[in-house]
Amino acid sequence: MGDVDVRVVIHRYAYHTDPDCPALNGKPEPYGGRETMAEEKAEEQGLKACKQCER
Ligand SMILES: [Zn+2]
Repeated sequence: MGDVDVRVVIHRYAYHTDPDCPALNGKPEPYGGRETMAEEKAEEQGLKACKQCER
């Protein structure tokens, strides 16, 4: 497992294995940037793999 990108928002629920994922880049909601963390750590925080990411 590698690092994944996570949106920095109040109610984040998913992590993205594709840094170009449209769900990571295209939403007009308040957006505080993103952080990168290990996939294991994202899962520890209760995040789920994004369904829009290809890999
Ligand atoms: Zn995604």
